[in-house]
Amino acid sequence: MTEYQLLESGLQLAAPGFPPQAVDNLMEFSAMLLEKNKVMNLTAVTDPAEVVTRHFLDCAALAPCMPKNGRVLDVGTGAGFPGIPLAALCPDTEFVLLDALRKRVDFLNEVIDALGLTNCTAVHARAEDFAKDHREEFDAATSRAVAELRTLCELSLPMVKVGGVFYAMKAADCTDEIAQSDHARAVLGADAPELLRYTVPHTDIERVIVCMKKNAATPPQYPRRFKKIQSSPL
Ligand code: SAM
Repeated sequence: MTEYQLLESGLQLAAPGFPPQAVDNLMEFSAMLLEKNKVMNLTAVTDPAEVVTRHFLDCAALAPCMPKNGRVLDVGTGAGFPGIPLAALCPDTEFVLLDALRKRVDFLNEVIDALGLTNCTAVHARAEDFAKDHREEFDAATSRAVAELRTLCELSLPMVKVGGVFYAMKAADCTDEIAQSDHARAVLGADAPELLRYTVPHTDIERVIVCMKKNAATPPQYPRRFKKIQSSPL
């Protein structure tokens, strides 16, 4: 099976009814990612087939959760995960891709232009700074491979509207991390999480999406400065 077929059949499994343009867009993104990765640290994955499975098909698992006509913040998007695959798969949702590293955001702007993604912008900022002017503005937030869950809750939940959801993409075995985040998510205004378990299509990689629905406004003192978040986690 070619990468193209792998991606197409995987996306059909992960995101039924995906836009036909999405496969072409993601193959172009893969080429740009692997090329730029030669001169910049963007991803540890260098096999094109694994870009399809470990990145694209993993991120596509979130597509059915994305709010139609809503706004989504991807916290610590790095080389654009899950934000770029989701923007390609969900043209009726607007995505803001946030990262603290300028070079990665510059790369994302090149990708957004090349793919012609009109529902996606990349912003260079730390989440805890961005939160000052964007409190409770987003219908959902996403995050993958950025920090442990209780830290991620403080970095992400303040920007989610009451009634919105924070989706953290984690390894299947994250029971302890979830237990350790219980106090943080309650203080920050989120319900106990629901877990969406899945196997990445065409692999045996098991993953989980931790879904935290916001039930109350986050108290104004959060998020704190990053040093404080790390030295005294909630
Ligand atoms: N989400 C991507 C993925 O799944 O491949 C990237 C993961 S990379 C390991 C973590 C990214 O989070 C880095 O690009 C880093 O700059 C960003 N990051 C870490 N802390 C952050 C913060 N407080 N605000 C914004 N970005 C942050």
